[in-house]
Amino acid sequence: MKVSTDAPVLVTGASGYVAGWLVRELLEAGVTVHAAVRNPDHTAGLAHLTSIADGAPGSIRFFKTDLLDEGSYAEAMNGCSIVFHTASPFAVNVRNPKKELIEPAVNGTRNVLETAIKTKSVERIVVTSSCAAMYSDAIDCHSAPGGLLTEDVWNTTASLSYQPYSYSKTLAEKEAWKIAAGQERFKLVTINPSLVIGPALSKKPTSESFNIVRQMGDGTMKQGAPKLGIGAVDVRDLAKAHVAAGFLEEVEGRHIVSGHNTNLLELGKSLIEKYGDRYPVPRKSLPKWIVWAVGPIIGGIPRKFVTNNVDIKWRADNSKSKQALGVTYRPFKESMEDMFQQMIDAGTFRK
Ligand code: NAP
Repeated sequence: MKVSTDAPVLVTGASGYVAGWLVRELLEAGVTVHAAVRNPDHTAGLAHLTSIADGAPGSIRFFKTDLLDEGSYAEAMNGCSIVFHTASPFAVNVRNPKKELIEPAVNGTRNVLETAIKTKSVERIVVTSSCAAMYSDAIDCHSAPGGLLTEDVWNTTASLSYQPYSYSKTLAEKEAWKIAAGQERFKLVTINPSLVIGPALSKKPTSESFNIVRQMGDGTMKQGAPKLGIGAVDVRDLAKAHVAAGFLEEVEGRHIVSGHNTNLLELGKSLIEKYGDRYPVPRKSLPKWIVWAVGPIIGGIPRKFVTNNVDIKWRADNSKSKQALGVTYRPFKESMEDMFQQMIDAGTFRK
């Protein structure tokens, strides 16, 4: 694949976990990156990007933007051929899902795509959607045609009151396809990752991915972890998928980017060999009835969620990502160990 360096490209949410590795790939390929962030003056939070740019053939420029500030992406987008739209809030515990998730995700997508229609240089937009736009619960995989998620499947079970993050991703991706269908400026491609794991480039990652993996070392799962069906993908493999979606001529449509059909316990168990003697990583399965009984009380986990996810296999077809984007997926043990080691080094589990 040839990564063109003729025009700059825009990365929204450039400060984020997923975007960090994408920006790195682009800079190392010699691309000029317009990095859209909420706070370009927060130099500490952007230091990882500046230092990569210092040693790479590409260059980086920061722009102040906000998903909710209409028109704020115009300057950053000017002259760019590709827009990688990764910015969207990723949080599970929110008080006001409409304000904290739906509005920034949907209005933000509209804001970015409508600015692109007005920006002559833009040829392609790669939206970081999610497998969450295809399912809410692992059981949804079983009701999908063929019993697994494919690019044809849409989430029909999320709502404002149930799995609102998944709802935000579903509405935002639908909005993107709707806008794309009504214009001829750019081609839209989406990347739909499952749970992203692997090391962060920034010192203080805030992505929900870290809250999940942290619980595997802080004692929360010392009695075991539920066999909660999920998919997982390494953040570095995901970055390469984004680059391919941006620069390969013939790509079309949605792409499930997920290396492994797995579950929470298996992710935890992958840490036993290297860290099991020092950290309370989960070793055995928490029975579904226990999670069902205590989940709502201890963890605020709704019983419906337990019923529909624990001991239910998660299944998705990742063949399109391998064929169309050339993605190769590393073993999740490697991703988990690299992520966990980084958390140890950062003092995450220090008492
Ligand atoms: P993250 O580190 O929290 O990144 C989210 C990014 O969105 C941040 O850069 C954040 O900017 C930006 N953002 C949030 N609200 C914004 C607003 N109002 N205006 C402008 N920017 C805003 O999380 P991530 O895991 O990298 O997520 C990146 C993308 O991947 C999201 O679209 C997410 O839905 C998707 N995704 C993630 C996973 C996963 O497991 N991590 C799985 C599937 C899909 P600030 O730095 O200014 O807060």
